[in-house]
Amino acid sequence: MSEGCEGVLYVVATPIGNLEDLSSRAAHVLGEVDWIAAEDTRHSARLLRHLGIDKPMISLHEHNEQARVETLHKALDTGQSVALISDAGTPLISDPGFVVVRELRASGHRVVPVPGACALITALSAAGLATNRFLFGGFLPAKGGPRRQRLMDALEREETLVYYESPHRIQATLQDIATLFGTRRVVLARELTKTFETFLDADAATLLLWMQEDPNQARGEFVVMVAGAEPQDDETQALAEGEAWLAAMLAEGVGVKAAATVVAGRLGGRKKYWYQCAQALKDGDA
Ligand code: SAM
Repeated sequence: MSEGCEGVLYVVATPIGNLEDLSSRAAHVLGEVDWIAAEDTRHSARLLRHLGIDKPMISLHEHNEQARVETLHKALDTGQSVALISDAGTPLISDPGFVVVRELRASGHRVVPVPGACALITALSAAGLATNRFLFGGFLPAKGGPRRQRLMDALEREETLVYYESPHRIQATLQDIATLFGTRRVVLARELTKTFETFLDADAATLLLWMQEDPNQARGEFVVMVAGAEPQDDETQALAEGEAWLAAMLAEGVGVKAAATVVAGRLGGRKKYWYQCAQALKDGDA
């Protein structure tokens, strides 16, 4: 290969839907390396067949990644070259590969990125939300309590928030965003680069409603983007944070009085104020 590929690990991005998004450099590298390490060899075999590439493959997924480090060390040490790919998009981005790249770099091997599609960047590039600063939160936790905690931790961040989500949990996540972020703007990017690519732009409660009216909107793969918080003075920020804490605790089944006591203990202020606030949230008046 013209790039001088001996003993190199190439980290190659593959399409997230539309096969034409594979770069010609990626196709070239995949055609030239000695081995391809793939998250799911059967899944990637389809892409390689489409490209007319027939190469030895090894699997590299979250359960065998550490064990594969040694195999890849040996391959690179003997001058072979390997391409690392995942099922879709850029390896290591909510995908396997981090351990291998860290270890091979640490031992002085060349690791070369071959960039291409990545769902979070693709989504941000067309969402119309601020992109000068963003916070990528990967997948949110599957369980409600930890998921709401993670969202709460991001409540005051002024950067655009970006999460990956699966069709099984999209409605629960939107419900939590509606509870904690109220009318904050949310853009949902679904099925990017595929036939049913859709961008939905509203607050989370409205998105949820649309999804319930048209269940097709709940199918496929999602990138959830939430507008960053408006800059606030300390007092407004404390009030917003307190309300979010109360909403999260009420969603967990904590009583109004207990929730008010916790928030007053954490943020200060009068317990009576937080009690009234919690009661209003519970009654749906807030
Ligand atoms: N490495 C990939 C990348 O570069 O984006 C991400 C892999 S992660 C296991 C899969 C998640 O990425 C999906 O659950 C979804 O949240 C997001 N994703 C991947 N492809 C997508 C697409 N075509 N449209 C919307 N989201 C997508």
